[in-house]
Amino acid sequence: MAKTKLMDFEKALELFEPVIGLEVHVELNTATKMFSSAPNVFGSDPNTNLTPVCLGLPGALPVVNEKAVRSSISLGLALGCEIAEVSGFARKNYFYPDMAKNYQISQYDDPIAFDGSVEIEIASGRVVHVPIERAHMEEDAGKLNHVGGSTGRIQGAEYSLVDYNRAGVPLVEIVTRPVFGGEADTPEIAAAYVSTIRDIVIALGISDARMERGNLRCDANVSLRPRGAEKLGIRTETKNVNSLRSIERAVRFEIQRQAQILADGGSITQETRHWHEDTGETSPGRPKSDADDYRYFPEPDLAPLTPSRELVEELRAELPEHPTLRRRRLRADWGFTALEFQDVVNSGLLDTVEATVAAGVPAQTARKWWTGEIARIANEQGASAPELITPEQLASVVALVDEGTLNDKLARQVIQGIIAGEGTAAEIVEARGLAIVSDDGALIAAVDAALAEQPDVLEKIRDGKVQAAGAIIGAVMKAMRGQADAARVRELVLERAQA
Ligand code: ADP
Ligand code: MG
Repeated sequence: MAKTKLMDFEKALELFEPVIGLEVHVELNTATKMFSSAPNVFGSDPNTNLTPVCLGLPGALPVVNEKAVRSSISLGLALGCEIAEVSGFARKNYFYPDMAKNYQISQYDDPIAFDGSVEIEIASGRVVHVPIERAHMEEDAGKLNHVGGSTGRIQGAEYSLVDYNRAGVPLVEIVTRPVFGGEADTPEIAAAYVSTIRDIVIALGISDARMERGNLRCDANVSLRPRGAEKLGIRTETKNVNSLRSIERAVRFEIQRQAQILADGGSITQETRHWHEDTGETSPGRPKSDADDYRYFPEPDLAPLTPSRELVEELRAELPEHPTLRRRRLRADWGFTALEFQDVVNSGLLDTVEATVAAGVPAQTARKWWTGEIARIANEQGASAPELITPEQLASVVALVDEGTLNDKLARQVIQGIIAGEGTAAEIVEARGLAIVSDDGALIAAVDAALAEQPDVLEKIRDGKVQAAGAIIGAVMKAMRGQADAARVRELVLERAQA
């Protein structure tokens, strides 16, 4: 593929204002599918999680999944949306083998949730309010596997296989209004928005939200308009970009690509585009008009939903704290730098550190152990850190450090012991003989022995060369297998040298 001609990003922003619109699909983690009792699980053998409803067999009738409706309402509320009093299902008709019945049940002009706003914060600390147009329920389609050919795409494939396991999995599609005001940080805004949606659905517990599994998928619409122009430019829609970093890169790429075409006097084709992770480029998909003819009509087999106001208020009362606000609060409470905090978040340890702090451990100490020794062992074992040790167990080790029984080096060994299943912190200290020796009798004996072994050093200390004491302290610590209080050893070395 010929390298696409791109305008320098900064120059593109001088000439044009970027406008983005994001469509995020969230797969709900209900036990069963949107309209049938087929199991909603990932990774089964192809075409095993099916009922006649998933396949649209004659006479099969859909039944709405109550849990999916509750999850959708909760999500709508978390996005600051209104919840519709009457919300219907519609058939979106299209012919493609990923849906056996030739239509997808979706929502059209009366989505379950509409008119919201999501607060996001980008790395620079800038807060942006992203306006939400709607969040509607629908069912996912099946998955085609294009076999043969190099790209996994249909072009060049020898044949295609279809797996209907995903057909009928409950989805919520969240659609933003056009987002203006992003400048150099428009690509970051796109990624931060999707990241915030992911945090929200995780906080709600309604989706596994794993982008690499397609639980969370984003289509990024991008257009440019000349500085000062009012009319929106023509948009492209880059489909299914499946990581946060790719979203940022894809938006940036489209801004640069479109700017070059417009500056050269060309025009943008309204189309879908595919993102290529390897080349970092987008390529044309299919042309797209604003009124694609899906012949939407009301789904005759389903009555409209009329969620009671009591249910809506009940779900509103159960909403978790908004993740953006929670993070801001925790970061301030803990006094972490932006980098320290990001490290905890990226390691998936926010809840764990919070629980550890609740168990009485200072935040910095909790961070140090979780992102240090415990993360290291987790990495070694291919496990996740919170599976290895509980916040309470860690707190019991930290308590032993605080009371002077352990230093950090010994604490590390106790943590290793807990992870290896050797017992409680106290039992491990006992069994492995790990406590710090603070009994002066044993320390004095070790100090005297070390001084006797190194008479030249002893002379130096006596001559007032206090730095020389380091060699003796080192020898004592070694003799005590690290289990001495180093500050006390130093005091004793200086004392005994003069004796
Ligand atoms: P479609 O059926 O094409 O997917 P949707 O209404 O579901 O349309 O989503 C279109 C998305 O594109 C919305 O987020 C919308 O705000 C955004 N959008 C519409 N026009 C533009 C434009 N000119 N530039 C950028 N984004 C746009
Ligand atoms: Mg759409």
